Parts: sequence; structure tokens; C-alpha cells
Amino acid sequence: MLTRETGTVIKEPGGRLPVAIVYPNSYRVGMSNLGLHQLYKLLNSYAGSMAERFFYEGSNQPVISLESFSPLKAFPLIAFSVSYELDYFNIPKILASSGIPVYASERREDDPLIIAGGACIMANPAPVAPFFDGLAIGEAEALLPGMLQVLREAGGSRMEKLEALAKVPGFLVPGITVAEPVKRVFLDDLDKEPCHTVLFTPDTEFGHMFMLEVQRGCGRGCAFCMVNRVFAPPRFRSLDNLLEAAREGLKHLNHIGLVGPLVTSHPQVEELVAGIRDMGAQVSISSLALKPLSERLLSELFQAGARSVTMAPETGSLKLRKHVSKHITDAEILQSIDRVSRAGFTGLKLYFMAGLPGETDSDIAAMKELVLECQKVFGRRSLSINIAPFVPKPFTQFEREGVMALELLEERLGFLTSELSARKVKVKTESPAWSRVQAMLSRGDERLAPVIASLEKPTLTGWRRALETAGIDEQDYLGIIPQGKNLPWDIISL
Ligand code: SF4
Repeated sequence: MLTRETGTVIKEPGGRLPVAIVYPNSYRVGMSNLGLHQLYKLLNSYAGSMAERFFYEGSNQPVISLESFSPLKAFPLIAFSVSYELDYFNIPKILASSGIPVYASERREDDPLIIAGGACIMANPAPVAPFFDGLAIGEAEALLPGMLQVLREAGGSRMEKLEALAKVPGFLVPGITVAEPVKRVFLDDLDKEPCHTVLFTPDTEFGHMFMLEVQRGCGRGCAFCMVNRVFAPPRFRSLDNLLEAAREGLKHLNHIGLVGPLVTSHPQVEELVAGIRDMGAQVSISSLALKPLSERLLSELFQAGARSVTMAPETGSLKLRKHVSKHITDAEILQSIDRVSRAGFTGLKLYFMAGLPGETDSDIAAMKELVLECQKVFGRRSLSINIAPFVPKPFTQFEREGVMALELLEERLGFLTSELSARKVKVKTESPAWSRVQAMLSRGDERLAPVIASLEKPTLTGWRRALETAGIDEQDYLGIIPQGKNLPWDIISL
């Protein structure tokens, strides 16, 4: 892999603290994660630390670092970057195959300190908390300097280090942290620390583009979305800062991918796209807001080489869109699609959700009708839709909502797939059964840790059997959580 990669940092520790960055999924998946690039850049930029990467390719062999082929156990500090719940299953495997006790409580004096951070950990670390010595609640730029300083200055014993770590703002050390809930920390001004691709490889999904982070957080407030609170407050990089970073990026790749939860909400997004286009680069945006969507932005994007766009109506009926706080009418959606069509785009991808609280058969019928209307407006060009089952997430308005019964959800997705495929719409649906597992992990508590650790292979049958063995009823996690009942993520304050 390294022979096809540029940007790799290879250095001798020379008195620096060696940190193992572990992404609990494959190189291909991990290298498309901008958070991983940022962690690597930061840890290699500080005077007192250096970092090497580990990925998990699915075997039971011990993982070794990409940079020096060192075993995981050789690193005194291990930092897991966890951004997807279904990757939880890989964490115990990586530890066990490396000869490291899976549970923090079983680690001895000479075992590494293992911390975890990332979107899942910030929202609800409980199901995997027993695997880690420390949990990082917040953004790397705000967490790492304090962590490295106390680990350098703390006494030599494991307990002294953990006690010191528990005093660093944003860190939760199970069993030691007393001041709960732990307050999340974040970077106040994004311009202080650029965030973009630093490792270049063709062996990843976004390997053809220079990913450039435009914003964190989002002010829209959709009821199902964690971004509002977990990544609050909404922050943007300045136009000058972004153009300068894009100029640097063009030394590597001629395609700039603007990344963020809602890039088009940047107050100067049109100038940004135009500015990058003027540099001769191709530009793409992860997802366009349906409203507002200006003709100028579409024209700039088209001139910058984009030929397809992605947008998210989320639901088919106005009633349900209002219920999820997505305030846009069918007419406004169709007007935006008409603009996309007239601007010359040939590909359109629309994201929807199924199984939302309050959804009825008529909402599903409305989704079908809306997609067909979109198809009419978009013309004979390529329209594809992606339908994801609703997963209730911590720190959202829907955090206590239940998950729809599997049979009903499958029936609704089956209806949409057959009706729309027959009309030549490309339909992709995500697995309802795996979404239920994701929902359990997303809102789970520490009782799930042994279940996660016990799975030889993450299969649905294995998961159900493991729950049964542990005496856990999945409905305890998938049903409505009554108001007033404590939540596993009450240990975090955003
Ligand atoms: S779904 Fe998109 S627009 Fe809505 S809050 Fe989340 S990031 Fe913002």
C-alpha cells in the first residue's frame, strides 16, 4: 500500500511518544475518513509525538503498522478512531489478536494505554467503553495537546497516567472520572487548524480528490440528525483559508472535494466554488441543500466539472418532512431539481429515510409519487435514490423513539424498490436488519460489550445468538425509551 501512497510520515521516535492510530476497518474505508487524516497530521506535527497507522482487513492475524511494520503492542499509546457503530465488532478482535487484553480492567502495568475518539464515541461510548482506558469526548485539535502534555508529565505508573488523563478537559476515564457528565471540547475557530487530505493514495473511494473540510456542525436542526448537537456549534472556515488550502491541494490532485454536513450553507459557497474553478480545478460537493439552491451555484459547479449532484429530501410527504423539521414543500423540491436539470447535470442522487417515527403507508406512497415527479422533472437523465432505515441516535430530538418492526420496514422498502425499479429509477436500500443492530449499538449501554466481544464473526445469526446467551432482549434497546429514564449518554454533556 505504501508504495502507492504519498504524504506518509516515517520517523524514528527520537524521544517522541509513539502513538498507534487504529481505524477499525480496512485501509480502503479508513483512508476516505478525513478525521483519520487530521489525527495523523496533528500527531506527527507536535514536537513530542509521532504516529503510525493500523487498519483491520478482516483476518485474525495481528495487525501491524503501515509505517514501520511494528506490532500494536509495541506502542505505549493507542488511539482508536471510531466513526461507525458496526465497526465496534472489530475492536476486540484487533486487541485480542495483538495480545492485548480486550477489557481495560484486565490490562497490566506494561500494557498500552488505549483511548478512543470519533463521532460514535462523542455521542455514546457506553457499549464499547469497557474496552478502553480513556474516552475522548470532542474534537482532536482541542483534545490532543492536553492529553500529550499530561502523559509526558505524569508519573510512570499506569494508574498515575490514567489519573492525570482524567483531569484533562474532554477525557472520560471509566472508574476514575468523577466529574460527570464530561463536557465535550471543540475547536472554536476552524481557521486555526486546516483540515484536508494529507495522505494521497488511489486505493480509497475518494482517492481521486483532495478532500477539504468546509464546516463543522449544522444549524438546520433536523430531528433525526446528530450533527446539530454532537458537532455544535455550526462553524465555517473562511473563504481565504479555504482557497489557500485548495491551492495547496492542487499541487497533488486536480479535483477538490468540499466536505461538510451541509457545504452549501457556507455563506460564500458560490465564491468558493468559483475561486477554485478559476484555479483550473474540478470541484464537487458532498451534498447540496435543496433550499436555498441558487442558479449561480449550480452554474459554478457545472463549469467546475461536476456532472452529478446529491440532495436529501428525506421523506415523501410534507407532513412527515415537517415532523422531522425539514421545512421544504414538494414544489420547492421539484423547483430545485428543475434548476439542477436546466444547469446541465446528468446525474442526480436523492437520499430518503424509511421507518421514521409517525410514518404511515400513505407517507411511503407519497415517497414513490415524489420520486416519480422528480424523475419527470429531471428528464431522461440518471436518477438514483438511496433509502436508509431510520436509526434513532443519541442527542437528537428522536433519541427516545422506537425502531419500526422489521417485517413492516422490509415490506415498505420492498414496495418502493419494486415500484420504482419498474420505472427505471435506480434504488438502493440499506439493510433493515443491520440497521436494527446499528440502532442497538447507537443507543446501547455497557451490557452490550460482552456481546460485541463474543462474536467470532459479525453475522446477524451470531448477533441474535449472542444476545440470547447474554439474556438480552433486543426490544429493550429498540423500543421507545420512556421520558425520565436515564440514558447511557447522560455521562456526556454537549
Ligand atoms: S440532516 Fe443535514 S441539514 Fe439536517 S441537521 Fe443534519 S446535516 Fe444539517
